[in-house]
Amino acid sequence: MSRYLLALDQGTTSTRAMIFDDQGQVISSHQTEFTQYFPNDGWVEHDGMEIIHTVMDVVAQALNSLPVGTAPVAMGITNQRETTLIWDRETGEPIYPAIVWQDRRTADLCDKMKQEGLENKVSEKTGLLLDPYFSATKVKWILDNVTGARARAEKGELAFGTVDSFIVWHLTKGKIHATDVTNASRTMLYNIRDMAWDKELLQMFDVPRAILPSVHACDHHFGDVDASLFGQTIPITAIAGDQQAALIGQNCMQAGQIKCTYGTGGFIMMNTGDKIIQSQNRLLSTVAYQIQGEVAYALEGSFFCAGSAVQWLRDGLKIIDTASETEELARSINSSDGVYMVPAFTGLGAPHWNPAARGTLFGLSRATGKAEIARATLESIGFQTADLLETMQQDTDMSFDALKVDGGMVNNGWLLQFLADIMQIEVIRPKVTETTAFGVALLAGIGIGLFNKVNKLSTFYRYHNRITPKMVIDETILQKNNWRNAVKSTCYYAAK
Ligand code: ADP
Repeated sequence: MSRYLLALDQGTTSTRAMIFDDQGQVISSHQTEFTQYFPNDGWVEHDGMEIIHTVMDVVAQALNSLPVGTAPVAMGITNQRETTLIWDRETGEPIYPAIVWQDRRTADLCDKMKQEGLENKVSEKTGLLLDPYFSATKVKWILDNVTGARARAEKGELAFGTVDSFIVWHLTKGKIHATDVTNASRTMLYNIRDMAWDKELLQMFDVPRAILPSVHACDHHFGDVDASLFGQTIPITAIAGDQQAALIGQNCMQAGQIKCTYGTGGFIMMNTGDKIIQSQNRLLSTVAYQIQGEVAYALEGSFFCAGSAVQWLRDGLKIIDTASETEELARSINSSDGVYMVPAFTGLGAPHWNPAARGTLFGLSRATGKAEIARATLESIGFQTADLLETMQQDTDMSFDALKVDGGMVNNGWLLQFLADIMQIEVIRPKVTETTAFGVALLAGIGIGLFNKVNKLSTFYRYHNRITPKMVIDETILQKNNWRNAVKSTCYYAAK
């Protein structure tokens, strides 16, 4: 009889519960969205208790999808990273809404700390950059702005956690206050060399030790879901941040293996094994996972605009009705006819780092139509990936022969071929595209002892297709040069 694993994927806009069997096959998937709050310019919040309600709701549905009399042997939790909650240890109620990773309210504080010359120290200890994105300044903001919070925190009445930690607290009815190493590594309070909360960072960001969760390996037995919630106890035997869970779900368990997730933006993560890479190009170093005692690190880079450029074609320009039409349009012509798009709608991320840059279209002629623009938009996603990959190559001195891809955009077969062409590497699309949930389900299986070897995970990974390059190298060089000139011109214009 099959043994089942429950994966809870708490994302930025929705919460999903999936059941997998012990062969890694999807049995069911339930998802529900929740409210995004934008109370001020650059502020993004979630209601912590609404998130808990969505969790209870999707987990109940997932359990109902199982054959009568069966139960999951274990559950794993993966989550939107960096999002920050502080709650009352008595009631479990947050004292302030969750401050979401996208929230920029602490930008001034980060700038001030950079001017004080603190970035190098922070970066050396955490692998991160002094940016509002990470939890530390969000924690400080809540403690400084909610009346009485700091005094209560120091007395030990309050608890801080990323979303995983808050969920574990509620699933165990307040018995467990814990997180895993991947989530801890995104707080900017955790030293990824020592693998411990860092006293100096806690002082720097004014965070009292008393509010911190305990930190464990990803495959730790964190606690058990309280029997009163769903009429059964379920061991919680895995936690990992979403990008790290995707890395595991893509079976990138060897140094040099790399995955890119194409959703609204593009997120590249490369396993760097036991090495912490200090990037020369402002990429992030982070904990990839700690499993069965072994710690692996990762190098991470992102570009802001991937699927969102396609959304702009649909909702802004209105030249398509659905995202998938871009594939037909791109295939309908032989080239984009010299048209290049730089989708810097919200600035340019790694490796260009230009927040002032804005989107541009180059090379328009009277013959330019929606097909050329759609194709140039898809190509821009390939060029951005190629730029990041080359940067990672420089930082790590490693070469890659394959890129594993996931996210909503991988339904676009033309894009996948272009990715393979422009980077001249094999592009691999997995069978289970919900790699985040898949990754944490496998981790939970390890945590409960269902799979006793990490390298056994590779037997669960199945690919849907592998795409090899078709374009000749000279053509890729020409196109990449044109793209780089377009990026240069965009940055030049932004600086005027
Ligand atoms: P997120 O998790 O960031 O919400 P998803 O992984 O669900 O994103 O991917 C959705 C994005 O992928 C949207 O921006 C959409 O425009 C884009 N997308 C979905 N299908 C296609 C397609 N066939 N071709 C091009 N873009 C697509």
